[in-house]
Amino acid sequence: MKEIAIGSATANPASISKGHLHTGHFPDGRPVEIPVVIAQGSQDGPTLWLHGCVHGNEYCGTFIIHEMLRTLDVQQLAGTVVALPILNINAFRRMQRMSPFEGYGGGDLNRCFPGDPQGSLTQQIAHAVYSHLKQHADALIDFHTAMTTDVRWALYTDAEGEVGKRAEGIARAFGYDSTLPAPMDILAGSAIMTAARDGIPGYIVEAGGKGGAFDRSTVVDGCARLNNVMRHLDMLPGDVTDYGPLTYFSNFAWIMSTRGGLFQRSVRCGDRIEEGTVLGQYYDLYGNPDGEARSPHAGVVLAIHPGPLMANGETLIHIGLDPRSV
Ligand SMILES: [Zn+2]
Repeated sequence: MKEIAIGSATANPASISKGHLHTGHFPDGRPVEIPVVIAQGSQDGPTLWLHGCVHGNEYCGTFIIHEMLRTLDVQQLAGTVVALPILNINAFRRMQRMSPFEGYGGGDLNRCFPGDPQGSLTQQIAHAVYSHLKQHADALIDFHTAMTTDVRWALYTDAEGEVGKRAEGIARAFGYDSTLPAPMDILAGSAIMTAARDGIPGYIVEAGGKGGAFDRSTVVDGCARLNNVMRHLDMLPGDVTDYGPLTYFSNFAWIMSTRGGLFQRSVRCGDRIEEGTVLGQYYDLYGNPDGEARSPHAGVVLAIHPGPLMANGETLIHIGLDPRSV
């Protein structure tokens, strides 16, 4: 069996070890420690790496990882699951996306990999995590959210050769319909792209919205799909569910709002839209209709602003481009 030690968590056959990893210091000198769970099976197999809350207010993935660990039978497991359900615990505690305590650079942990042990607090977290990930992981699943409860899409690292093929296998086993085979030149500094360059297939799940904008059914469904990935990887026994053809995109487009106002959306995640489709309605302070937001592209809605207030420059919509059934 593989020997894995991450912080104070240590792999032991047919058991679950919980501990923490030291990733830096708070401004008062106290240690920053993030939770680590290592679940090792009773037989040898691959090491699946899971992490959540790379962005501190994206809690749905943390709940999916927790749900899977609570229901995992290590006697049935082959290989090892390494789970870090709350990666950016500083941002998590502040209930915000980006790292606090960053004077420069914005503090987006998912642009800091592989990290720097001499860098900012966020770069140090990335380094502390990634050095273990690179050493041990055979596959990485990274959980994120967008803006509303109906978000369900995913990306896999569309790398050359075997790494890309293995990543696509994970995407099909998780089976979210809206899927981007992510070109290797986007999302520089993200965990999945950094891992793919080191030969580790990567997959991002976008499930639910930030903060409390997710529900129990998304967590239970995400857990079931994660278990299906583990069957696909021969880590759990049983038949792999075939989710059928997926909808692939060539890339995505982020559209920012160019105005503010009271806003109500008129499309849902997963909807097909055309160039010019009405995405939502603006109102003035008296409740009078005050203009529509229209899509500049055709595609599929991956994420849409929930309203009720729109500020200039906020993300209005995230569109998957050139949808095709594969
Ligand atoms: Zn995120």
